[in-house]
Amino acid sequence: MSASASPPQAVQSQLLEAMRRYWGYDSFLPLQARAMAAAMSDRDSIVVLPTGGGKSLCFQTPAVCREGVALVVSPLISLMKDQVDALRACGVPAAAINSTLTPGERRIIAEQIRRGELKLVYIAPERLLAPRTLDFFKQAGLSLIAIDEAHCISQWGHDFRPEYRGLRVLKETFPQVGVHAYTATASEAVRHDIAQQLGLIQPQFLVGSFDRPNLIYRVRRASNRFSEVCQLIEQRRGEAGIVYCISRKEVDKTAAGLSSLGYRALPYHAGLSDDERHRNQDAFLEERADIVVATVAFGMGIDKSNVRYVIHAGMPKSLEHYAQESGRAGRDGLEADCLLLYSGRDAAIWRGLIEKGESAAAEGALQSLVAMEQFCSGVACRHRAIVAYFGQELEGDNCGACDVCLGELDLVEGAEVIAQKILSCVLRLDERFGADYTAKVLAGSAEARILELGHDRLSTYGLLKEHGAKAAREWIEQLVGQEYLAKIGEFSTLEVTDRGRRLLKGEGTPQLLKPKEAGRERRSGRAAADSWEGVDRGLFEVLRQLRTKLAAERGVPPYVVFGDAALRDMARRRPSTLDAFLNVRGVGEQKRADYGEAFVEAIARYCQANSVALDCQVSVSSETEVVSLRSAPGPNASATTAFPHFRRGASVEEVMQKLGRARSTVLGYLVQYIQFEHVFDPTPWLDESVLNRVEGAVEAVGAGALKPIYEHLNRETPYEEIRIALACLANRDGA
Ligand code: ADP
Ligand code: ZN
Repeated sequence: MSASASPPQAVQSQLLEAMRRYWGYDSFLPLQARAMAAAMSDRDSIVVLPTGGGKSLCFQTPAVCREGVALVVSPLISLMKDQVDALRACGVPAAAINSTLTPGERRIIAEQIRRGELKLVYIAPERLLAPRTLDFFKQAGLSLIAIDEAHCISQWGHDFRPEYRGLRVLKETFPQVGVHAYTATASEAVRHDIAQQLGLIQPQFLVGSFDRPNLIYRVRRASNRFSEVCQLIEQRRGEAGIVYCISRKEVDKTAAGLSSLGYRALPYHAGLSDDERHRNQDAFLEERADIVVATVAFGMGIDKSNVRYVIHAGMPKSLEHYAQESGRAGRDGLEADCLLLYSGRDAAIWRGLIEKGESAAAEGALQSLVAMEQFCSGVACRHRAIVAYFGQELEGDNCGACDVCLGELDLVEGAEVIAQKILSCVLRLDERFGADYTAKVLAGSAEARILELGHDRLSTYGLLKEHGAKAAREWIEQLVGQEYLAKIGEFSTLEVTDRGRRLLKGEGTPQLLKPKEAGRERRSGRAAADSWEGVDRGLFEVLRQLRTKLAAERGVPPYVVFGDAALRDMARRRPSTLDAFLNVRGVGEQKRADYGEAFVEAIARYCQANSVALDCQVSVSSETEVVSLRSAPGPNASATTAFPHFRRGASVEEVMQKLGRARSTVLGYLVQYIQFEHVFDPTPWLDESVLNRVEGAVEAVGAGALKPIYEHLNRETPYEEIRIALACLANRDGA
């Protein structure tokens, strides 16, 4: 980090005053003060802050404080529109010049600039660089030039845009105006490339921490992906989330599965028409849909601040991608969940794709992939691992916001011995078999192939019998991740590495996770700690609906009206007057004028109806909140195809015909449907009288097994009916 000075006191007060007045914030986020100081004093700068770090205010606040108009270069129309909407909502005069404007609109904006009425003008690079535009701005009196998403200028970045290259002329055309580059991209090479490409003069580098403390990372080996995805979504029902899948096919399947469960989910990938993609993205931004299921194609230009979770239903191909994609959660600084589900198959898919691609980049891509796999199977703090990958260190021991630090992952005792058993088995198998097979041998499986090959006579056969093949399989992956084992060649056969050979001699300390038990998840963390403290959740919901309504009336996305953080602070302070309303974090003067009355009134109405106190003093403690969450297993994806039919009351026979599935399969789907949707009325699938009979039988013989119930009912009620009845009865008990 740079050791440059903070702004002089007078400048600092001026900046704070503007922040308070327009945005309703009364303190700087890390590095904001120094970044703003550079922009106030025309010192070129490169500001690297993670997503959600508050980069926009770094140039917007100085732009408001200074004479003249600030020029902001931005790559996407959607990004410009978002920012301009947000600025106007705060009472800052701003506009965007882009291809969507009519000539008439463009003239009006030019006129406003000439009259000095605008503080910020957003523009795409190709438009800015037209000679006429440059000449125009020479007359305009620029306060500063901001280059947003500045990594787009570097070929080494992940998002190179050739049209950014020409921006070099800015420094030549406006030598006395400060040029400031903003990016979230971490790599040092890219940073220096940006400085060079833009021709910056002794720029100040301000590089923040890449850690995103409000994101709660969890990494799990996938067993039933769809069901695991459902579980988190269910916990976050009604909130905004993104589910990333590796392939388009997975996207379509998952989105359809979620929709049939009644979630408001839409797909997004490059195989859809432009029109459909835009429609789905807009629905998400305007909160008409809660979930976007997407490939990596989704995300650039998504400024939505209240994404509450990002699920990776498959492993991304690099940690850069992971940081970028998971980073779309919690831009508002409030806690958000990032769940990553991975399997060895994901890595194999990426490997296949990389090897098919061009060879020059393949080497680097494979290295990135290996780092990603190690992250997944690793058992070190996730926050630490991510920032370490980007060359930074994390302060403190326990991040309190990842599965490792929250103690959700239990390490097995005696990992060294287990690892040695696994490695010797790999050697006994002459390093000619894959992970699945090796795991089965270790678990003592009597599978035909093992017997045929005589591997049941190996000394390592059944060494991990008490743990089972599934656990052995997971441990093998973890050992690959820790480089004691390697997967080789087309068939991913296991090989013991040099490191592994040393382990066999007793050198090394592998760490292995206890196999996952269901329902053992804790939630918490410093991240969740303060943000809900003192918040009346009922009121929050009421305010959220009000926000949606007002946003729709004004034709802006809801988060432009207020972010989630501001709504929570309202539901915490519960201001009864417009003055008190101004104390809410995220409420500036313009928003008080525009929305104050509606919100204060809604708050008063709610508080009176529910006997909740108004005008609360706020003291946010940092105590850890531990909420235990119900973890009902979700259905499997194929079962959900039947749900819409059951929902409209289709019979088992009808569904069999519709889906072309066997009776027993469809009955299984029905049981899952009943469980998932908490159905307790068995009609039309079962007569109420059958339910009563089964209930009687359960009282007599218990619900532990089907057979005693079947016997108790004189073998007159078919098993399938008993299963359906039991599923319904379980929901009645719980109701
Ligand atoms: P970035 O562009 O770096 O991803 P943004 O500029 O979108 O980040 O800011 C992220 C969020 O933080 C926004 O909701 C913004 O209003 C908020 N924010 C910015 N500066 C402050 C501040 N000083 N205090 C509180 N919140 C802030
Ligand atoms: Zn941690």
